[in-house]
Amino acid sequence: MAFTPEFIQQVRDASDIVSVVQQWVPLKKAGANYKGLCPFHSEKSPSFNVHPAKQIYHCFGCGEGGDVFGFVQKLTKVGFGEAVKSLAERAGIPLPEEARDAGQREEEEARRRELEELGKLLDLAAVWFRRHLEESEEAGPARAYAEKRGLDAVTREKFQLGWAPVDGRALIQAALKKGFSEAALEKAGLSLRSERGVYSRFRARLMFPIADPKNRLAGFGGRIVGEGEPKYLNSAEGPLFNKSRLLYPWPHAKEALGKGREALIVEGYLDAIACHQYGFAQAVATLGTALTEEHAKLLKRYVSRVILLFDADAAGLRAARRAGDALVGTGLEIRVARLSGVKDPDELLRAQGAPALQSALDAAVPLFEFCVQAGLAQAQANGGLTPQARVAVLADLHPLLVKLASAVEIEAELAKAAQAVGVSPEAAAEDYAAFKKGARRAATLPLPGPAAAGAPAQALAPVRAPEGLTLAEREILRLLVCEPGLVEEAKLDIAEPVFSTPELQAAIDLLWRAPGGSILALTDDGSEAHQVGENLLRELSFQPQALSENLKPAELLKDLLATRQERLLERDRADLKLALRQAEASGATEILKKIQLTDQAILDLRRERRQKHLATHEDSE
Ligand SMILES: [Zn+2]
Repeated sequence: MAFTPEFIQQVRDASDIVSVVQQWVPLKKAGANYKGLCPFHSEKSPSFNVHPAKQIYHCFGCGEGGDVFGFVQKLTKVGFGEAVKSLAERAGIPLPEEARDAGQREEEEARRRELEELGKLLDLAAVWFRRHLEESEEAGPARAYAEKRGLDAVTREKFQLGWAPVDGRALIQAALKKGFSEAALEKAGLSLRSERGVYSRFRARLMFPIADPKNRLAGFGGRIVGEGEPKYLNSAEGPLFNKSRLLYPWPHAKEALGKGREALIVEGYLDAIACHQYGFAQAVATLGTALTEEHAKLLKRYVSRVILLFDADAAGLRAARRAGDALVGTGLEIRVARLSGVKDPDELLRAQGAPALQSALDAAVPLFEFCVQAGLAQAQANGGLTPQARVAVLADLHPLLVKLASAVEIEAELAKAAQAVGVSPEAAAEDYAAFKKGARRAATLPLPGPAAAGAPAQALAPVRAPEGLTLAEREILRLLVCEPGLVEEAKLDIAEPVFSTPELQAAIDLLWRAPGGSILALTDDGSEAHQVGENLLRELSFQPQALSENLKPAELLKDLLATRQERLLERDRADLKLALRQAEASGATEILKKIQLTDQAILDLRRERRQKHLATHEDSE
């Protein structure tokens, strides 16, 4: 039986690990924790520990450990589901099947039926619009318009284009006659209500049916034929139509996307259809919105590269920046293809054919490069490349750079941009660091108070500066395990969680993935890394961080992070020294320079820490 996370949590909350363990193992209180003889290995003095605050157990003799479910599983030799079931019974919690109340089931059923009905209504409307486009006399101008835009009969059939008549009541009447209600028409996003009654949202428009990623009709886009506003209109947002998730024409593009692993993003239905007509079946359009993160998620399942088609003007730059917001950091390769001399891909294709678009795609440049080039062009047009303009071009990139996961990638992009703009990479990096500091300060969560209530009351050793890198990293983990509230803040500081041993690495990876910093909330993926990481974190939670009265957890974290930074620099320095000894005379000056820079960084960091230390000291007095 599959349990919901909520149910599992409910059982967990009702099953205090101390009392569960005590059914089998006598426990004695030892400080904030409990101790007993390990049931999993034979021993004479107790090394089996239970942590009531964290609801975990750990044996320092044999290394066994886990949460309350793990304990029952291991001891009674059952699977996870059985353990949940027996603990639910113990706590008197009815199992989900029994508990699920009939009312809720009915509600779900009603919702499912409603969506099904709305789907049928959209299907009916699509067929009805379609017939009107090809058969009604009134649609003559629409057919002529379609032909003029290159939408011949074959294309109109392929994309199921339709015509919404001028008469706003016609669709409503047709739907009511088929047994659909006015409420359904409204929910399907097809109608509007006025004092004079219900009438169609779409009138005198060429209609483009829009399907969702599962190939079900979600709504329509309508382009006005003749005079009128707005030029483009979509179905109202509703249970079926959610434009931040829809791409047009998905069902026609899906196969090509999966095959070519590349998507071409254009701005409107007509552009998308033109691309498909000319053999670019990987083209999809957003529905009058910028790309969203949901679009990015959908695309990521099919492609590894996205090419955006934008003009190389101010509007194009803005569009690229917006698209970057949704796409950068998703792992998708993002390129921008530029159109020059034409309004859109539709115009390009009809005037110059497929090879013209293909060469634009071949010449597509990476998003960052596009932003820099477009920014420079803007600057040139607005009075030249002043130092302020250079700063602005680079500053424009900062919000996108922050989204990149890897420090190496950030550094590379910054260096490229710096070169293009004509500043030193060091200056560019410095500006970026300043931006990041500001962004981080803005994002910093309210800090928890000093040594929170419930912290272990045992005698705590005074804080000692750890000596090596691994020690510093171990201390960071220890603090985070005991103060999970700090994990989010630590993430902001540790841009790249590369720790120095596989064990520490496994632990930090787990902690980074754990919702709210709670390792109990993680599902074991069965990997060795998971085991190793979890063991270490568990062990550390029984050896809580020493917190002095004067040092708040957040301050301790900062201090430990700075210590780690210092150790990293020292390691770099040692590596460089080694390299220097091995280097040929020709390369030596380069390395010497690097060593000097590293030395400087170490000194700066130490000075900064000394000053901060003094400041803290003064504060606490
Ligand atoms: Zn044991």
